[in-house]
Amino acid sequence: MSCSPFDLKDYFFGVLEADGQRAVETHVAACAACREELQALNLVRANLLAAPDEEPPRRIAFVSDPVFEPRWWQRLWRSGPQLGFVSAGILAAAILVHAVTRPAPPVVPPPAPVDVAAIEHDVAQRVAKAVAESETRQAARFEKAMAERERELEFQRRADLATMQESVSYLKKTMGVNIARINRGDFGATQ
Ligand SMILES: [Zn+2]
Repeated sequence: MSCSPFDLKDYFFGVLEADGQRAVETHVAACAACREELQALNLVRANLLAAPDEEPPRRIAFVSDPVFEPRWWQRLWRSGPQLGFVSAGILAAAILVHAVTRPAPPVVPPPAPVDVAAIEHDVAQRVAKAVAESETRQAARFEKAMAERERELEFQRRADLATMQESVSYLKKTMGVNIARINRGDFGATQ
């Protein structure tokens, strides 16, 4: 395939002995064709490394690999003159069978359409729920504050009532004393 003293792929993967690696380097420095082939190998490697999300190929195929050799029916076809009409028919059938029995490409289901109305409805419901919850919390806080204020007022009211009752009883006592004095004819000189 190449004119390099050692296989360029072996050199590329660094599997040659030190002497071999050096020999290829010397050759590549002077041979444009081998330099080009090495560049192609580098390009393939760079492309493979640039696609880390994909499963790395288990095996990198090279043009010199047997997989690129003509298939049995291609070899048969090339031996054309020896083939009769019947053989050609069998060959056509074989190619057809091969084509038909090839695994079908995987069917990728189309992405589900986005239902904007449903999303908007959902968002509106969530917002309404959040607002209602906030209002409930505020109402509860307000009610609690009101109850506290009412208790304070009730306490104040009782205190006021007690003070008033005290005043009234004091007044009554004083008035009673004064009335007793009047009744006794004692008109407040010592008061
Ligand atoms: Zn060369």
